[in-house]
Amino acid sequence: MTTHIPLVDLQAQYARIKPEIDSAIQRVLDHCGFILGPEVQAFEEAFAAYCGVEQAVGVATGTAALHLALLACGVGPGDEVITTPFTFFASGEAISQTGARPVFVDIDARSYNIDAERIEAAITPRTKVIMPVHLYGQPAEMDAILDIARRHGLRVIEDAAQAHGAVYRGRRVGSFGDLACFSFYPSKNLGCYGDGGLVVSSDGELMGRVRKLRDHGRVSKYEHDELGWGYRLDALQAAILSVKLRYLDEWNAARRARAARYNELFAHTEVITPAAPAHVQHIYHCYVIRTPRRDELVEHLKAQGIGVVIHYPLPLHLQPAYRGLGYRRGDFPVSEACADEVVSLPMYPELSDEQQQRVVQAVVEFVG
Ligand SMILES: *Cc1c(COP(=O)(O)O)cnc(C)c1O
Repeated sequence: MTTHIPLVDLQAQYARIKPEIDSAIQRVLDHCGFILGPEVQAFEEAFAAYCGVEQAVGVATGTAALHLALLACGVGPGDEVITTPFTFFASGEAISQTGARPVFVDIDARSYNIDAERIEAAITPRTKVIMPVHLYGQPAEMDAILDIARRHGLRVIEDAAQAHGAVYRGRRVGSFGDLACFSFYPSKNLGCYGDGGLVVSSDGELMGRVRKLRDHGRVSKYEHDELGWGYRLDALQAAILSVKLRYLDEWNAARRARAARYNELFAHTEVITPAAPAHVQHIYHCYVIRTPRRDELVEHLKAQGIGVVIHYPLPLHLQPAYRGLGYRRGDFPVSEACADEVVSLPMYPELSDEQQQRVVQAVVEFVG
């Protein structure tokens, strides 16, 4: 009987850093300062410095980060925000929560990211923001996107929920857009032990809005000059994240090494492997392969005890919740084809050579 190989292994990670995590949690329990306070501030400062920006605001989830970033840009009913349909649902949901309309633009088949060459055709007088997603941990084509935004007077918000530490032309993501948003959902490359998120930016005015809106529009303890949200990051999660941030580069490097080995083992097979160009550092939140008989492959791998997941089987424009937007199958053929053919293989820093060998063997005996 062979052992199960999970998609991600959070227990292996915790086992390695247990003493530091446990003492960080104990520290918070000892001081009982659970909401915002110095733990959150320390993490915000560390993460801002990590991204090479001036400010960070910790929030409750990655979705809350996107919602607040959009609100800070003044996005609301009647506005349009351009994004990719090939992403986690929350990218579109956050736009809709503001009352604005998500306008989808198809992806590039090699990077799985928004195709910058198709963005301009989607711009209308109502467009306010372009929101690229650095999908799977690979930066979107930021030079082209920023150039379009500049020429049309649009804001850019990076959905960096899958890309903590990914690099584009020598700079970490998070420092390109007017604002950028991160998620610390447990399985992300930097994850907490519950829900968490964060917004970064070097624009003090935008960040003042984000900071106020995350905490009920509060300007002092019991004075609120507008309606906001209960979107705070809590101190326990911040304390955990401060410990884990110190390991992020090491973990990302290990993921990149695992990905390079997968690529090598899949060379000379029919499997389509990720293609990251030389000017980006992909941090492999997901290691995604593409194959036409995907659904049968998934069954085959599951039967062998290999944890695989499809990110994502249904593009946003085909989601039942978005029927009202009026899109149809065929509108974004690249996204639709990828949704039918991608599958994410086990990927985490602690993945062993032997485990990888087993995954590759199981894939290749099926695909050829
Ligand atoms: C995880 C994720 C989010 C949402 O983050 P939560 O913390 O789960 O709210 C948003 N966008 C993308 C691309 C994500 O992967």
